[in-house]
Amino acid sequence: MSPRLSASAPLDYESEEEAPAPERLALSFEVIPPRHDADAAKIDRLLEVLESYHPDYIAVTSSQRSGWLEGTAAFIEKISQNTSMRPLAHLACTAGTRDELIGWINRLVDAGVRGLLALRGDLPEGGMPEHYLQHADELVRLIRQLESHQAARFAAGRLAVSVACYPSGHAESKNEDEDFDVLLNKQRLGADFAITQLFFDAEDFLRFAQRAKLAGVKIPLIPGIMPMTSLRRLERMGQLSGLTVPERVRNQLAAATTPEEEYEIGMELTAQLARTIVAGGADGLHIYTHNNPDITQDLLSRIGVDNDDH
Ligand code: FAD
Repeated sequence: MSPRLSASAPLDYESEEEAPAPERLALSFEVIPPRHDADAAKIDRLLEVLESYHPDYIAVTSSQRSGWLEGTAAFIEKISQNTSMRPLAHLACTAGTRDELIGWINRLVDAGVRGLLALRGDLPEGGMPEHYLQHADELVRLIRQLESHQAARFAAGRLAVSVACYPSGHAESKNEDEDFDVLLNKQRLGADFAITQLFFDAEDFLRFAQRAKLAGVKIPLIPGIMPMTSLRRLERMGQLSGLTVPERVRNQLAAATTPEEEYEIGMELTAQLARTIVAGGADGLHIYTHNNPDITQDLLSRIGVDNDDH
C-alpha cells in the first residue's frame, strides 16, 4: 500500500455521503528536538529519510527537556530551511503563562509553522500554576483568537490546530464520556483534527472512533502508531502514558528468545495493528519515530507504505 493509494472506506462521519473519498492516506511523523550535542549527520539522515515519504506534516514535540519551545523552534527552523516538509509544533499550556504562550506562538509562526498541536502537557508536581491556562481547550481558543487578529499572515487566514485524544482513555478522566465531552469541546472551539495517544489494540482505536462519531465528533482522528520494538520499551512508554500493556501483546513479546526475535514479533504486531485500522477506515497514520529513521522505514515497509526509493 502506498500513501498515494486510497484507504478503504473512510470513517463513517456524518457528511460521508457528500464527501468524496480521500485520494490517499494521510501520513505524518512525530520527531523530538535533538539535544544540542546530537550528531548532526544523524539528524540530517533522519530528515532525509522522513522527507522521502512526502509526509503531510512533521510534528515536533516540546518539553522541559527541549527548553520548552526553544529546542522545538530551533528544530523547526532547521526543518523549514533544509527540507520541503511542513512543520507542526506541539505547544503545551505547561510551557508558560498566557503571555509567554502568545510569544511562543508568534515565534513559531515566524519559524515557518502553520500548524499547532494544542496540549495541556503533563501535570507538574504540585499541579498547574494558577495563572497558567489550565486545559488544552483554553489554548485552542487562544490560538484561534491570535489567528483572527493576524489573518493576513496565514494562507487562507487559518492555522491548522490539532489536539490530543485517547483511545484507551486519559489517565485523569473519570470515564470515556468525559474524554468525548472534552474532544467535542475542543472541536467546538476550533480544533481541525486530533492525534491519538499510543494504543496497543486496533480494536481500541476503531471502537473509540465509532463512539466518538456517535457522540458528535466530526474532525478526523489520526491514530498515533508507536513501533513496538521491545517489551521493555512498551512498558516504559505505557507507564509514561498511564497505559497497561495488554496480556496478549506481553505474552507474544515475552516468548522471544533473542532481542532480534522480540523486535521481529513487535514490529509485525505494529504493522498488523496499522493495517487493521487502515482497513477499518482510519484517515491516516501518525508515526512516533523517536528520531529513528531505520525503525520508521522498516515499519512503513511492513505496512506497505512506499517512499521515493520504491
Ligand atoms: P486536556 O485536554 O487539558 O485534558 C487533560 C485532562 O483534563 C483529561 O482528563 C480531560 O478529560 C480533562 N479536561 C480537559 N479539559 C477540561 C476542562 N475544560 N475542564 C475540566 N477538565 C478538563 N506533552 C508534552 O508536554 N509535550 C508534547 O510534545 C506532547 N505531545 C503529545 C502528543 C500526543 C499525540 C499526545 C496524545 C500527547 C502528547 N503530550 C505531550 C502529552 C499530553 O500533554 C498529556 O497527555 C496531558 O496529560 C494531557 O494533555 P491534553 O492536551 O489531552 O489535556
